[in-house]
Amino acid sequence: MKSTIEISKQCIICNGNFIAKTQVTKYCSNKCIKKALSLKKKLASIESAQAEAYNKSAAIDMKLISSKEFLSIKEACLLIGVSRMSLNRYMNIGLIEPVRIGSRVIIKRESIDNLLNM
Ligand SMILES: [Zn+2]
Repeated sequence: MKSTIEISKQCIICNGNFIAKTQVTKYCSNKCIKKALSLKKKLASIESAQAEAYNKSAAIDMKLISSKEFLSIKEACLLIGVSRMSLNRYMNIGLIEPVRIGSRVIIKRESIDNLLNM
C-alpha cells in the first residue's frame, strides 16, 4: 500500500520548505540530495585525513621517545602506557627514580627499562 502522508519539512541543504512523502525525507530535490552526498563525502575524507595525520604523528613520537635517554613525565607515561597518576605512584614508592633539574622533573630511560625488566 502506498503511503499518502504529506509532511511539511525544511530541506537541510537549501533550507527551503517542501512537502515530504515519508518521515525520513530530508531533502527537497534531487539536486539537494546530490549536494548532501558530496558534502558527506567531503566530510568523510577530511575526517580520515585527520585520523591518518594523528596516527602518523603518534607513531613518530613513539619512535623518538623510545630513542631518548631522558624523558619528560608525559613521554614516560606514553612509553610505559600508564596514566600520569600511575607514574606518580611509581615515583612515590621508588619504582622509578625521577631526576630533578630545577623545577623540571625528568625520568631516566634506564629506570623505565629496569622497571619493565623486573
Ligand atoms: Zn533543498
